[in-house]
Formats: sequence, structure tokens, C-alpha cells
Amino acid sequence: MPAPRQGLSELLERNAVRATPRRLEVLEELARERDDVTAQQLWSRLRERDSAAGLATVYRTLALLSEKGVVDVLSHHGGEQCYRLCGDAHHHHLLCERCHRVVEIQECGLDDWVAAAAKQHGFVATDHRVEIVGLCADCR
Ligand SMILES: [Zn+2]
Ligand SMILES: [Zn+2]
Ligand SMILES: [Zn+2]
Repeated sequence: MPAPRQGLSELLERNAVRATPRRLEVLEELARERDDVTAQQLWSRLRERDSAAGLATVYRTLALLSEKGVVDVLSHHGGEQCYRLCGDAHHHHLLCERCHRVVEIQECGLDDWVAAAAKQHGFVATDHRVEIVGLCADCR
């Protein structure tokens, strides 16, 4: 279900990104996707909606949005980057290696393990990313 444009515009501002019509258009299209998409796929979908956004603009916009932490980048399509609009809270991803389904997992019980593993090497952990790869219920 697409998030309302108002919410997307606030999401951009919360992450210090100016909400231009083009960025909102890209984000709105991304919000329609349950799993994740490549820049190329997103661009094709925008074209089907008669958007004038060029492929280079879509690439640039997605790169900016991921750099600013608005969208997540996943790479499970043979090295090609995929983008997903996830929730704001800390989470992890479950990735289906066959159909590329993506599920967002909100629960994280890893903080103690992460802190201990980091400490062992003299690090202080500030963040961690974990992706669980496997087969979804439909592909098993
Ligand atoms: Zn995510
Ligand atoms: Zn699957
Ligand atoms: Zn975590």
C-alpha cells in the first residue's frame, strides 16, 4: 500500500533531504513495492506512469536517498543494487534467494553479541547490519 505523499515528504525532511517533486515521485514508486527494486526496474515503472524522469536521475536519486538513510540498499541480485523503503526503526532483512522476496524483521536480539564481538577487537560497535538469506515459505 503506497504511503501518502505527505508522509513521504516528512520522511525526506527528517533525513535532511529537500522534498523535490522528482524525489517524491521516486520515493512514491518505491513505496508501492513490497520487496525491493533495482534502479532500472524503478525507472521502467515510472515510465509506464508517463514520468519524464530519466534513468540517470533515478540512479542519482536512489543513491542520494540511500546515502541519507531514507532507503535501504540490498544486494542479492548478482551484485546489482536493490532499493527498499523500510520502516524507520532498527531492523534486519530476510531475503529469499530464489524469488527475491524481502521481509523486514523488527525484533533484534543481537546487541550483546555485537558489543562483545566488537570489544574483543578493541572496537565500540555503533551499528550492525545482518541479512538472513534463505528460501521463503513459497520457495521451500
Ligand atoms: Zn530495510
Ligand atoms: Zn521465495
Ligand atoms: Zn540488529
